[in-house]
Amino acid sequence: VGDRADYDEEVASVCPFCGVGCQLSFKVKDGRIRYVEGLDGPANENRLCVKGRFGFDYIHHPHRLTKPLIRREDAPPKGLNVDPANPLTHFREATWEEALEYAAKGLAELRAQKGTYVAGFGSAKGSNEEAYLFQKLIRQGFGHNNVDHCTRLCHASSVAALLENVGSGAVTATFNEIENADVALIIGSNAIENHPVAATYFKQFARRGGKLIVADPRGVGLGRFAAHRLQFKPGADVALLNAMMHVIVEEELYDADYIARFTENWEEMKTHLKGFPPEKMAEHCGIPAEEIRAAARTFAKGRAGMIFWGMGVSQHVHGTDNARCLISLALMTGNVGRPGTGLHPLRGQNNVQGASDAGLIPMFLPDYQTVTDADIRRRFVQIWGGVWSGEDFSAEKGLTVVEIMDAIHAGDIRGMYIMGENPAMSDPDVDHARAALAKLEHLVVQDIFLTETAMFADVILPASAWPEKTGTVTNTNRQVQMGRPAVPPPGQAREDWRIITDLANRLGLDWSYGHPREIFAEMKRGMGSLDNITWERLEAEGAVTYPSLSPEDPGQAVVFGDGFPRAGGRARFTPANVLPPDETPDAEYPFVLITGRQLEHWHTGTMTRRSAVLDAVEPEANCSMHPSTLRKLGVEPGGMVRLTTRRGSVEVMARMDRAVAPDTVFIPFAYVEAAANILTNPALDPFGKIPEFKFAAVRVEKAA
Ligand code: SF4
Repeated sequence: VGDRADYDEEVASVCPFCGVGCQLSFKVKDGRIRYVEGLDGPANENRLCVKGRFGFDYIHHPHRLTKPLIRREDAPPKGLNVDPANPLTHFREATWEEALEYAAKGLAELRAQKGTYVAGFGSAKGSNEEAYLFQKLIRQGFGHNNVDHCTRLCHASSVAALLENVGSGAVTATFNEIENADVALIIGSNAIENHPVAATYFKQFARRGGKLIVADPRGVGLGRFAAHRLQFKPGADVALLNAMMHVIVEEELYDADYIARFTENWEEMKTHLKGFPPEKMAEHCGIPAEEIRAAARTFAKGRAGMIFWGMGVSQHVHGTDNARCLISLALMTGNVGRPGTGLHPLRGQNNVQGASDAGLIPMFLPDYQTVTDADIRRRFVQIWGGVWSGEDFSAEKGLTVVEIMDAIHAGDIRGMYIMGENPAMSDPDVDHARAALAKLEHLVVQDIFLTETAMFADVILPASAWPEKTGTVTNTNRQVQMGRPAVPPPGQAREDWRIITDLANRLGLDWSYGHPREIFAEMKRGMGSLDNITWERLEAEGAVTYPSLSPEDPGQAVVFGDGFPRAGGRARFTPANVLPPDETPDAEYPFVLITGRQLEHWHTGTMTRRSAVLDAVEPEANCSMHPSTLRKLGVEPGGMVRLTTRRGSVEVMARMDRAVAPDTVFIPFAYVEAAANILTNPALDPFGKIPEFKFAAVRVEKAA
């Protein structure tokens, strides 16, 4: 961190970490970012959290990949056995020409045997243009839809429920709309740590007299600001929400006029909810019935209410059901489509919204247009000027993240192209994923560091970090924002869109992009959501929210005031039943394990653990437990514990945290030395195909 006045250049861009999408200014001198300041962006109004403010120096870390690498013929067997500081024990340096040829040749050979042998993981950390190109490469170049990214691990179930019942997978209102609300439910979200700048708006809302209802199995920090704190048992989301809705029906607190005008399936929903009185659900939820009733009344009686949720809702085998309940709660209280109302799943990665919008998912082309529709495919084949597989590409939905790992073990996927994702750390039951990566016949990894996934690669293509590239990103608010390069990529590293383009051309495609603005222009041809949003506007204005109704419209903060993008224009109530988690505690595994993030570290730690300030604040793998749990185990805070599930064991330092319920363990997943995902359950939600990261049965023992 440099002297505050000591810089030569300021570059306006966007934070590379979470989906809040704070605008910031990189202060640059001598080819290095010296420090960062917040800008007056629509989502942050000059605010930044500790990651945005101090987490930039990873880009200058000596571990950066600066030359293409090819696995040595005499390298040891593939595994987590490479020192990121010295990759030349397993890899040799190559020219770009050689590395790209090698990468393309291996993929083309598998394609020649069977097109579906190859799958791709793109990234929510790149630009919209890069996400679009990546999915295009798989679909145009291989003729199928086996392409996905980390949305599958965060909000896939929320998107499934929103598309089903509202007709759109994005938020119906920006989080800043809370300024116009008088009540808000925040559930399954530790926003103070995971969306810190958004959380500042939530706190201000409460300080102004807004009524916050904070519901979470952990006593998350926002609870201090809450009118109602509902610390329910892990996995009891549907029981709690159905009980709240039961009260609203029983006491006739619903908005009959809104329901009649804008919804369908209300009578079935009302009948279904009769079976969930709070008195019956209280024990299951671990909350007294009267508290459930009081929270329900507060929400329903509000003039304008918003609902925010995080991965505590989505990462369950019943994650889609959880989100269906939240949608129903908003609909029955008329809380969509007006100022201060809305449904808002807080998106995780800085560009997970944009990457999903751009079609980096196996079931949808850009703008959530289904791959099963022949007319839609024809339109994209036309935009792309043809596809490798002939006149059309597959009408079959592709495999999702966890399914692809299973398909590798089954021999159905034999090669992969992975850009900016780290499944060797982020997948559930990660030893299973690592074994799958080791089995691949040809693995191309494009990244900025020698990640745990890159250790399994046959060829590594050195890419650019976010502050080194030009491109757009879309935050949780649907705000499309312009990112600008502050410094060039180190050594021979290149911008990702260039690498994808070079690879595509070696796979026989005929791409000729000269700048990301040309990719953006092509995206607009197939994406109505980008109407009235041009590259020039983004350069001039920094951000435009979609939908934007005219070239002057900054975009609609609130949508669906006059109906929904579904047949008949109505949103739908979809009843949900209480289902158990995939595995429940028993004598052998008596505690509940919950995984998540912590304020200073980002996801698999690739970036933040190489950031000096952030790593100094949180240097060590840890887990958190209630004092009563520690006492039961005979462990002092700071002592080591061994956590064991049906998948494996890790040893971590134990912290005392009263926010964690008794007999529950919380573990962050950023630490490779004690990878939390060794423990997690790969069981999937059947609709969103998201794994159950938020519930596993675990044994905890004192370790040496
Ligand atoms: Fe970056 Fe998110 Fe923090 Fe904003 S809140 S500075 S986008 S990590």
